[in-house]
Formats: sequence, structure tokens, C-alpha cells
Amino acid sequence: MKGIIARIEVQQGDITRVVTDCIVNAANSSLLGGGGVDGAIHRAGGPAILEDCRRIVARQGGCKTGEAVITTGGNLPARYVIHTVGPVWNGGTHGEPEKLANCYRNSLKLAVGNHCRSIAFPGISTGVYGYPKEEAAAIAVKTVVDFLTGNDSIDKVVFVCFDVEYYRYIRRELNL
Ligand code: ADP
Repeated sequence: MKGIIARIEVQQGDITRVVTDCIVNAANSSLLGGGGVDGAIHRAGGPAILEDCRRIVARQGGCKTGEAVITTGGNLPARYVIHTVGPVWNGGTHGEPEKLANCYRNSLKLAVGNHCRSIAFPGISTGVYGYPKEEAAAIAVKTVVDFLTGNDSIDKVVFVCFDVEYYRYIRRELNL
């Protein structure tokens, strides 16, 4: 098995352009679109993603915080989009760290279940949902490293950092 750190990449930029088997969307519980990375993914991926989301909503009525669902990647380079709902930051004493870790874990499990070998994550909850970037980066890295330690079917995890601040925190957590 390749070492854990050798299976992790950090990139700065736009997740809609990343070439991995799946990319993760920081969605909201309605699954019907929003701003930020969600808006960018639906714009770049086209209407097929929203059509799949609507089917999921009809079946199970959205997605709870910490959980994840999967759709087509539409016109994106990625085959699938995994939509997960991050916690809204509310001071940190309302289960936010565990909920954020669940987003990473459940997205990775769904990727494995759909035979994905590579996955890209944005900084879930670090935009409109207000999670402090430094703490979010620590949880993101720890959860991914723990998952990769027990699983060798994922070859590559890419942390896609939209801003330089989050990029620096992620690199620091990885001792890069
Ligand atoms: P949330 O509601 O979970 O906070 P946001 O979409 O508001 O979700 O922000 C999540 C993170 O995604 C933020 O750090 C934001 O800077 C980043 N982001 C926004 N657009 C993109 C994009 N195209 N690619 C990667 N990351 C993005």
C-alpha cells in the first residue's frame, strides 16, 4: 500500500476543473442548489446534476447535516458529484466538529461504494457556513488520514483550496 501522505494532494483553485473520479460538493440540506462551491458545481456540471438531486429529494427528502448523497458529474471532468451537508458554525459547542468529520467520512465511504479511486474535497463549511478555517482544516486532514489508514481502495484525495489562507492551514496540518 502507498503511504498515506503520498495519496494526498493539495491544490489551489476551482474544484469544478479537478480531474478525479468524484468531487465533493458543500451542499445545503435541500440539495436544490445554493451559492459558493455549490453554485459553481451546478453551473459547470449542467442540469443533469440537479435532475439527480431532485430524484433524491423525491425519494428521501434532502440530505441531513453530516450525511452524503451521490449524483452524476454531468459535464464535469469528474464522473460523480458527492453532495454533503456541512454544519453551520454556531460557536463549536453544538457538535460541529463531529458533524464536519462525518461529512468527510461519509463522502469517502460513498466514493468507495461507487468504485471511485480518487476524490476531491472543497473546504466544507468554511464559506457561508462560517466554520473557522484553521479548525476545519485540522478536522479535514485528520479524518481523511484516519480513513486512508484503514482503506487502500482510495489512491488519491485532493484538498482543493479556494483561498490561500485555507491552503496554508491544510498544508500545515499535513506538515508540508
Ligand atoms: P459552506 O456553505 O459549506 O460554507 P461555501 O460554498 O460557502 O460552502 O464555501 C465552502 C468553501 O468552498 C469555501 O472555502 C469557499 O471559498 C470554497 N469555494 C467556493 N467556490 C469554490 C470552487 N469553485 N472550488 C473550490 N472551492 C470553492
